[in-house]
Amino acid sequence: MTFSDFNFDPQLLEGLQSMGYVKPTPIQAQAIPLILQHKDLIACAQTGTGKTASYLLPVLQHISISDKKHTKALILAPTRELAQQIDQQVEGLAYFAGISSIAVYGGGDGMIYEQQRRAMLEGVDIVIATPGRLIAHLASGVIKLDHLQYLVLDEADRMLDMGFYEDILRIISNLPKERQTLLFSATMPPKIRTLANTILKDPQQINIALSQPAAGISQQVYMVYDNQKVKLISTLLKGGDYKSVLIFCSRKETVKDLNRTLRREGIKSEAFHSDLEQEQRETVLRAFKSRVLPVIIGTDVLSRGIDVEGISLVINFDVPPDPEDYIHRIGRTARAETTGTAITFVNEKDQRRFSFIENLIGKEIPRMTLPIELGEGPVYSPTTRRPSTGGNNRNGKKKVWIKRKA
Ligand code: AMP
Repeated sequence: MTFSDFNFDPQLLEGLQSMGYVKPTPIQAQAIPLILQHKDLIACAQTGTGKTASYLLPVLQHISISDKKHTKALILAPTRELAQQIDQQVEGLAYFAGISSIAVYGGGDGMIYEQQRRAMLEGVDIVIATPGRLIAHLASGVIKLDHLQYLVLDEADRMLDMGFYEDILRIISNLPKERQTLLFSATMPPKIRTLANTILKDPQQINIALSQPAAGISQQVYMVYDNQKVKLISTLLKGGDYKSVLIFCSRKETVKDLNRTLRREGIKSEAFHSDLEQEQRETVLRAFKSRVLPVIIGTDVLSRGIDVEGISLVINFDVPPDPEDYIHRIGRTARAETTGTAITFVNEKDQRRFSFIENLIGKEIPRMTLPIELGEGPVYSPTTRRPSTGGNNRNGKKKVWIKRKA
């Protein structure tokens, strides 16, 4: 299958060519024909599969540019980073078609709010927004969505995790009932099904390799004690030819500490977490994208949406709390059918959590041997709740574990 099978306008094909997309990815091959037939759609697809273009292309094909006054498509996304990246794809794909778009997100200073406001007053074809900021603009009356034809929810599961359920319903109450709605989600928990039942009409369903990491990722795991982790990272970074590296930590304090330590070791790294101002985040991402900065250390804020070509290595400094986050984190490498490496550090406490990840992906991740100078790591024994005591307490009696309430 090629993109010419969809009978796209020549301007759109030119956009595709300029983006370097030659062949539709599996989600694009399945979703584009359905969306072109004006069907509502619920698609289970993770980032890295080409899901963004799978809804953008048919929407761009159908948008009429003769009506400049009204917004025709609204794309809701959980984070500003994702909103910006979707906007960049619109800009690339729609460049020759003359379709306008704007990313609307919170944070930043008053100037950004004002820029968003002015752009919307002038009229814009596609709005890509995080729910909170869009509600602010709706409340102030700058944007009217009464001529909307397309609503897309991207990473719907993450939006619900972030508590946007009510906001989404509120936004939808401002939209025409006659519209095409497309819902994309990496996972399909029951609350997504409930949302889908509320807002979609007779939807078609697509399921692309549910919760499976992209095939091009070489996954590896090291069993380590905490005091071996930093040494292992610097050995890996100094020993390998990695040009773009993302390191994930679950807590921002760990991100900051690790960044300081690695910089002391002479590794060019920057921290990325929710304490940074929008402008600081953008500076870090720009430096990383332009290859000036080889290493970013971040929390899971970074795991969704960061769309950088050619990330060669992802390191999980700890095991993410939610197995789905593992897939999002490692999905930052091997984007769209390239290859990459994803290494996870598992200490004694994280072994059980790690076993859930292996259950989710349905296979065993290859165990790597620690470099000899680091000594031995812990033995893998995920059924033990706590490590190293052999299940005995200090008096040599068997320990009884009482499950605490979460
Ligand atoms: P997404 O899953 O939408 O985040 O897309 C992942 C990456 O794949 C992005 O960098 C896209 O620019 C890229 N991409 C999307 N579709 C294609 C395609 N058909 N061929 C090559 N790259 C693509």
